[in-house]
Amino acid sequence: MDHFTYRNRILHCEDVPVAELAAKYGTPLFIYSQATLLENLKEIQTAFAPAAPTICYSIKTNGNTHIARLMVNNGAGCDVTSGGELYRALTAGCPPERICFAGVGKTDEEMRYGLGTGVLMFNVESHAELHALGEVAKSMGKVAPVALRVNPDLPPKTHAKTDTSVKGVKFGLDIDTILEVAQGVVGHPHLRVQGLHMHLGSPILSADPYRQGLEKGLKLIEALRKQGHPIEYLNMGGGFGINYRKQEALPASAFAEVILPAVKQSGCKLVLEPGRFIVGNAGLLVGRVIFTKESGGKHYIIQDAAMNDLIRPTLYDSFHRIWPVAPEVGLATPPIDYEIEMANTFKQNVVGPVCESGDFLAKDRYLPRAKRGDLLAVFSAGAYGMAMSSNYNSRVRAAEVLVTGDKHRLIRRRETFADLIAAEEHCTA
Ligand SMILES: *Cc1c(COP(=O)(O)O)cnc(C)c1O
Repeated sequence: MDHFTYRNRILHCEDVPVAELAAKYGTPLFIYSQATLLENLKEIQTAFAPAAPTICYSIKTNGNTHIARLMVNNGAGCDVTSGGELYRALTAGCPPERICFAGVGKTDEEMRYGLGTGVLMFNVESHAELHALGEVAKSMGKVAPVALRVNPDLPPKTHAKTDTSVKGVKFGLDIDTILEVAQGVVGHPHLRVQGLHMHLGSPILSADPYRQGLEKGLKLIEALRKQGHPIEYLNMGGGFGINYRKQEALPASAFAEVILPAVKQSGCKLVLEPGRFIVGNAGLLVGRVIFTKESGGKHYIIQDAAMNDLIRPTLYDSFHRIWPVAPEVGLATPPIDYEIEMANTFKQNVVGPVCESGDFLAKDRYLPRAKRGDLLAVFSAGAYGMAMSSNYNSRVRAAEVLVTGDKHRLIRRRETFADLIAAEEHCTA
């Protein structure tokens, strides 16, 4: 469920016509629905309520401080993967005791930042990192709280570029050797191994991987405790999928059904790190058509949202629903099946102005004829959209707007040409 709906053939975000926002703030534009953000967070909070979990919103998914603050003010903590993300979480007002510090390559400086801040836990992913964290903690006279991140070696479950729990990926401690690593730090004066972490990959459209991961996880917790580690936390990461094509995603309750009994059995406190599930379908990317053209029998819609704004199609061959903001009479209005031919549509490629053949938002997609100035909505663009944006081709980053009811406000201004070179100024030869 989201709050992007067509009323009388006009796309609205909550009670605001999307075309009005595009006219006021320009394009390309990210538009977020506050009601959707809060309902998605609430759905997870409700589904997992029996375990009273710490829900750490994954900052990397969409790090806008206004969105993070909304999450924090509604009970969430934050999951961060870098010093920069920790800075964002703290700026958004997140209490440190609700922050998990993840990431496969934390520098000493980042570890010091996390320890100085007093984060809840570091998710540690290698023997070398465990050693380094112990050294940094020693130098600060502190004890670092640690959750060991295990790679549980499960069958493939999502796109190869976003699967983090198959054997041989860079993530986590190999399940075959994690106990040896843990044995080496029993009684370490500056490390407290108090949790087990796993983040299986994303997006995941079945509860099975969680079931399989937990089966192995419960045995590991037992073994770690036997070694003398006080395991109190079970962190199941994020990964809950969303509806990119149609109704393919599971409700949070389907994951809770699998996770809750295992958490109870483990006697641990539950931590979750959802990102996509909360913000993915709460965001829309709007582009304005610049030209149409034909080339080699292919039809192109060239509009002003590009791979530098939303790289998921280029990077992962991802599918995003795309439809005109104001479909003409004779055209269907969503919800529709985007993968079949509809009246007054034909196969087209939606592309941006970036100088790469890989710059596309949709390929061979049934869409109506477009004309200069038309607005196209790219749905479910709230997660890994703006967060992965770049200045490639010296394109300024898009603006972001947050809508609640009939109100809207800018939460990130469009960058300027001056922003593009700001970090290069005052650098002398
Ligand atoms: C990316 C990531 C998440 C969030 O994943 P979603 O699929 O967006 O929920 C959570 N935890 C860790 C460690 C991650 O790297």
